[in-house]
Amino acid sequence: MRVYLDHNATTPLRDEVVEAMTHVLRDVYGNPSSAHEEGQAARRVVDRARQSVAELLRVAPDDVLFTGGATESNNTVLLGLLPALAGARRHVVSSVGEHPSVEAPLAVLERQGWRVTRVGVDRDGLVDPQEVAAAIESDTALVSIIWANNETGAIQPIDRIAALARERGVWMHSDATQAVGKVPVDLGSVPVDLLSLTGHKLNAPKGVGCLVVRESAAFGGILHGGPQERGRRGGTENVAGIAGLGAACELARAELPERTRRYAQLRDRLWDGIAAKVPNVARNGSESHVLSNTLNVEFCGAAGELLLQALDLEGVAVSSGAACHSGSIEPSAVLVAMGRSAEQARGSLRLSVGQGNDESQIDRVLAILPDLVQRAREVG
Ligand code: PMP
Repeated sequence: MRVYLDHNATTPLRDEVVEAMTHVLRDVYGNPSSAHEEGQAARRVVDRARQSVAELLRVAPDDVLFTGGATESNNTVLLGLLPALAGARRHVVSSVGEHPSVEAPLAVLERQGWRVTRVGVDRDGLVDPQEVAAAIESDTALVSIIWANNETGAIQPIDRIAALARERGVWMHSDATQAVGKVPVDLGSVPVDLLSLTGHKLNAPKGVGCLVVRESAAFGGILHGGPQERGRRGGTENVAGIAGLGAACELARAELPERTRRYAQLRDRLWDGIAAKVPNVARNGSESHVLSNTLNVEFCGAAGELLLQALDLEGVAVSSGAACHSGSIEPSAVLVAMGRSAEQARGSLRLSVGQGNDESQIDRVLAILPDLVQRAREVG
């Protein structure tokens, strides 16, 4: 039996999500834009899902724009909404700890003449709100800071950053892809104007997500075509995917406190076991401001990629602190920004727990890990 500890990469679907989607795929084939009953049945599915997402995030249903995932949502904010609405302003404040789906469009903006200030992170991977405030200039149009980092799980002080942005009259965007379903993301109390998420990090399918646009009136959208999503994203809706996302949001809302507690229990069992059984390890990132499911560990002197492969052969799926770019192993930019050396980043693994994991699985990993680390160190 395999042990899947890579829930920050993607998650398995919950049964309730599969059931909601299967019902739509089998029985609700109408086009939500059609006036007849078949179409209206599909429209009701989309409306209900929109309501479920809105309730989880505490926004108005009209603020929820369904997309094809967080990459699309982030690109829509930075390359669609921002140039359309920024007027003469040409400056964005972001951080060095963003996902590539924010970082890459920021680079596109820079090539088009925009200025981008990327605030740093401390050793724990955390952004200082005062640094964000100090980076805001008279022509800053947007602050975009990730809610929780995908590699380290570091949870940013988004409430304080958003309050500062609001005070200065600057829009606030957050990529909350890793946060939604794991920590409260409550836009009823946090003044975030734009928020991205994707379904497959919270047990819904891939290829569906949403963008919350709280300044909805002024935004004309970027996919021009039909009247879908109130004209902001033309194209017939992914009704089954949207139903799955809605079901996952309902589950997240009902289960959040219990889920957080459960994940923390498993994650802490894993870390306590690693710290007890494997010499020379260090935890990357804050231990208090961190997603309850995420553990990023440096196995000092080990080759992370080899350890990942050895674990995979033994039936355990994790992720490494390095990525393969054009044939060479590049250390994680986020870990390097946190002050780790390239070698330390290469020796780091991300282990992220989720639905379906239990104590016996954690213990199985702990039983095989010390040997595998030793071997990876001998090679490393
Ligand atoms: N942002 C973050 C923080 C992520 O972890 C991911 C997925 N790795 C994305 C954005 C992109 O999500 P998707 O691939 O579903 O578009």
